[in-house]
Amino acid sequence: MQDLTERNIYPETKRFLGRVEKESLLGQRGVVVWMYGLSGSGKSTIANLLEREMHGEGRFTAILDGDNLRAGLNANLGFSDEDRAENVRRVAETAKLLAGLGVIVLVSVITPRRSLRELAGRIVGADFHEVYVRAAFETCAERDPKGLYAKARDGAVKQFTGKDSGFEEPENGCLTLDTEVASAEECALLLREHLRRIMDSGSAN
Ligand code: ADP
Repeated sequence: MQDLTERNIYPETKRFLGRVEKESLLGQRGVVVWMYGLSGSGKSTIANLLEREMHGEGRFTAILDGDNLRAGLNANLGFSDEDRAENVRRVAETAKLLAGLGVIVLVSVITPRRSLRELAGRIVGADFHEVYVRAAFETCAERDPKGLYAKARDGAVKQFTGKDSGFEEPENGCLTLDTEVASAEECALLLREHLRRIMDSGSAN
């Protein structure tokens, strides 16, 4: 990417109200929880439960859901490797923007490759916390909340994650919510506790 000044772009970094003012207005620190996993693994279900819980506690949250964003901001993107990377880049930039305004951002995007998770982490920076929402392909296919697995079986969905487009499990020790073992409510609770620990450790509150 060319240098910003070479492109005649001069971002305002001092004149506008900044993160400190926004966070003190909201009484919280911005953070990004990046939930990834197969379609139907439970990302949106858990994000929804967690958001409602935190909203009740007076926390200001936002869910960035892959499908919702693909209906608008990312409507021009498909599921090729290149488009998935651009999808992640845009979601990560949006998450970063919101966290910089003090928002607790819950991202729910498949993010199938380690390189994509790393890309998101690089963009978001210190506020980035990844969480693997796990369920086996067969389990997701049984749940099939959107009917996509049935369609993929019939060959009607191209580049379907876990079938003809790969999914890489995490290698690092990132938090895993195993939705075959714990209920959606239990997973939301585990994630709430995880967030509390992050907040207590000072990187967000
Ligand atoms: P994703 O956002 O990952 O594509 P969804 O949350 O839309 O997945 O769908 C997950 C489906 O699995 C829902 O129908 C949900 O009710 C079901 N489900 C069963 N057990 C769990 C669990 N432990 N956590 C989350 N969802 C679960």
